[in-house]
Amino acid sequence: METLDYNELAVPGVRQLKPYTPGKPIEELEREYGVSDSIKLASNENPLGASPRALEAVREAIDDLWLYPDANGFHLKAALAEKHGVDPACITLGNGSNDVLVFLAQAFLAPGLKAVFSQYCFAVYPIATQMVGAEASVAPALPADHPMALGHDLRAMYQRIDADTRLVFLANPNNPTGTWLSGERIREFLASLPGHVICVVDEAYTEYAESDELGDASTWLEQFPNLVVTRTFSKAYGLAGLRVGYALSNPGVADLLNRVRPAFNVNSLALAAARAALGDHAFIERSRTLNAAGLVQLREGLEALDVAVVPSAANFVLARFDRPGAELNEALLRRGIIVRPVGNYGLDDYLRITVGTEAQNRRLLDALGDILGD
Ligand code: PMP
Repeated sequence: METLDYNELAVPGVRQLKPYTPGKPIEELEREYGVSDSIKLASNENPLGASPRALEAVREAIDDLWLYPDANGFHLKAALAEKHGVDPACITLGNGSNDVLVFLAQAFLAPGLKAVFSQYCFAVYPIATQMVGAEASVAPALPADHPMALGHDLRAMYQRIDADTRLVFLANPNNPTGTWLSGERIREFLASLPGHVICVVDEAYTEYAESDELGDASTWLEQFPNLVVTRTFSKAYGLAGLRVGYALSNPGVADLLNRVRPAFNVNSLALAAARAALGDHAFIERSRTLNAAGLVQLREGLEALDVAVVPSAANFVLARFDRPGAELNEALLRRGIIVRPVGNYGLDDYLRITVGTEAQNRRLLDALGDILGD
């Protein structure tokens, strides 16, 4: 069969693009390694599963699968508008918040324009930027010996902003580091931005934050017309498999994002589940409590093994080892434990470990103790 040089045919941004590296699915591990009873602490999913109210809503919505979903997500937007005290016109729904991050790139970036983000930021920011042929302007992260090791350095980010910059991405807390910024610092940063720059504050993990220090960027929208806040149902709400997230912004920005949004991007089960999950405060509280205890358990357990742990306000920890993360990952996979090696982020000696249940965390720590002691 004759083949073409498809790469040559692709648009420049796509030619060099490396796809996002996802966590290994449990089923794949068991198939490839012939192990059973595996656990996955690799994708920052909720170890409690999904909100029971969301599951109930999915059961009720399933009979209507033959109908297209409400393309405007009226009921979910109404519930989100009430939660955040904003007009529904401020909301853009996404197939996961990943979707809205891509809309932002499509709406505001192009060849000749730039996005600023930090080294060790969430991998989708560089992917979305490159995909649309824009330039990535990467600010060095805080050093490994800083109290907020590898976190965002707002001063360095600010210095990279120029006339061609259209987007700045901040994750609070950040993935894969878990580090955070105080709300006060972000507000100062927002106040200092020129009018041609949109700042995205990605709050995918905000429900897990134990202190008020991080603030709630959704309450600053009135004050900062160039602020976009992204949120997700994939983490604390336990709905990663359904794919639903959203952006909150000025209605003018939401109008642009909704122009590039594919029709029906959020499916009917996801709309129903997300709406129900929003009202399940008890589930969020349980998730937060379990996570807080798990963070302590993992930190203390890892430190007892002489492993350095980056501070985290999220549902995972980034841990630094005395050997390549890929090697440890392999040894853990053989024991039926999936974590996330982060060599793709330039963090070769690190592993990112999602907080699991008490028993899962214990199993991970015991396995690491064995491997490191060998
Ligand atoms: N932002 C951050 C910081 C994340 O870590 C993730 C998930 N890994 C996302 C956004 C996207 O999540 P989702 O598309 O599931 O909403």
